[in-house]
Amino acid sequence: MAYKTINPYTNEVEHEYPQATAAEVEKALTAAHRLYLRWRGGGELAERKQVITRLGELLRNRKHELGTLITHDMGKLIGEAEGEVELCASFCDYYVQRADQFLAPTPLYTESGNAYVLHQATGVLMAVEPWNFPFYQIARVFIPNFLAGNPMILKDASNCPTSAQAFADLVKEAGAPDGSLTNLFIDYDQVGTIIADKRVQGVCLTGSERGGQAVATEAAKSLKKSTMELGGNDAFIVLPDADIDKLTAVIPAARLYNAGQVCTSSKRFVVPDNLYDEFLDRAKRIFSSVKMGDPMDSHTTLAPLNSKKAKEKLQKQVDLAVEHGAKVVYGDQPVDDLEGQFFMPTILTEIDRDNPVFDQEMFGPVMAVYKYHDVAEAIALANDSSYGLGSTVFGTDIKQARQVAAQIETGMTWINSGWASLPELPFGGVKHSGYGRELAEQGFKSFVNDHLVYEPEA
Ligand code: NAP
Repeated sequence: MAYKTINPYTNEVEHEYPQATAAEVEKALTAAHRLYLRWRGGGELAERKQVITRLGELLRNRKHELGTLITHDMGKLIGEAEGEVELCASFCDYYVQRADQFLAPTPLYTESGNAYVLHQATGVLMAVEPWNFPFYQIARVFIPNFLAGNPMILKDASNCPTSAQAFADLVKEAGAPDGSLTNLFIDYDQVGTIIADKRVQGVCLTGSERGGQAVATEAAKSLKKSTMELGGNDAFIVLPDADIDKLTAVIPAARLYNAGQVCTSSKRFVVPDNLYDEFLDRAKRIFSSVKMGDPMDSHTTLAPLNSKKAKEKLQKQVDLAVEHGAKVVYGDQPVDDLEGQFFMPTILTEIDRDNPVFDQEMFGPVMAVYKYHDVAEAIALANDSSYGLGSTVFGTDIKQARQVAAQIETGMTWINSGWASLPELPFGGVKHSGYGRELAEQGFKSFVNDHLVYEPEA
């Protein structure tokens, strides 16, 4: 399996890495399991907190250097890459502050004796992560599990190997013992072998529905607990009383951040008939004013897609949508003046229920716009999806916005804001967007053994 950094702006192969051998896999498992045995009783939390504090410092001090690696791996704007590194540092702060509280035993009330629940490590975890946030995705699972005492083996996306290795090296430099986080360049069969290994107790994956199904199947075969953070087709419901200026300010990040390659990007805009024409005008203005170019240049506002494969896949989806009756309101033109994997921002309307892309995630700068007449119709449209990751409700009457939010079948809803991710907010979805949560206390405890201890009265 080829692990390569192919810069999507220049198309040049910048780095290539050899596949890990079976002996390297065994070495990683041995080191990780040894650490688990050392930590499982709850010891060395203070030392682990020191490592994470140091990791936060390193991330902040080197945000430009690390951001540059991310940009070269998968093309995102350097400002966004630096923001990602800073967000990871904020995870360090949050979990160091909360670890004692999250791991403190929970006393249970019983009249029959003494009972409490210990929150303990469970063992080695296998993490499979994607390319769209090369640092954030690793940080989201590594930091809490390291503090909880679960060592981790990482298989990152084959197109961002330099960032993955840099993150693992940084963890080591911060003082983490050998085996805490081992990044391995492995193929899918090796992932299966690791999951089946007796020393491994859990599997977390962020990625596509297809990748999630494959890895969750491996986990199920050997009865390993798993969390799955998968794709989304998030609806952005504009309510009839929405302030169009405030809405306009939110659209660029909601749809175009990371060149539209965010699981929680707003992908379907559901707009009332009283605002529909104005909304399309504003969206066209936003989409036509982007500046494509070198993602390392701070004046660039739209980055290339992460790979040639991603660009081809998105173009196929847009073609399919149009073949089945979708109307191109803006975009869908080749970007000939740049060599990189650029995709012209595109606005589509009239995607009917029977259009094959209606229920597909379009991972790039493509906005689908739907018109509705009454709010019940908008809620039904938002819920008419096999995905259930995030959603947005935008309106002036906050009470109505909250009522609408409560009726949407997703794991997360943002009111009067685009998507957001903070360490204290649990992240995850329902339906085909996966199961389990990352971040916050829920994420911290995803792979913690809630171990009951009970002493009945004699
Ligand atoms: P992907 O193809 O599923 O890849 C994700 C990771 O899974 C990569 O490391 C990939 O390795 C690995 N993988 C895929 N199939 C595998 C298999 N059969 N066995 C073992 N490993 C396997 O996903 P992607 O298309 O690159 O990533 C984008 C997707 O992630 C989008 O759908 C997006 O919405 C979703 N996402 C979800 C969240 C969330 O929190 N819910 C966050 C970010 C992204 P290779 O690179 O070697 O194929």
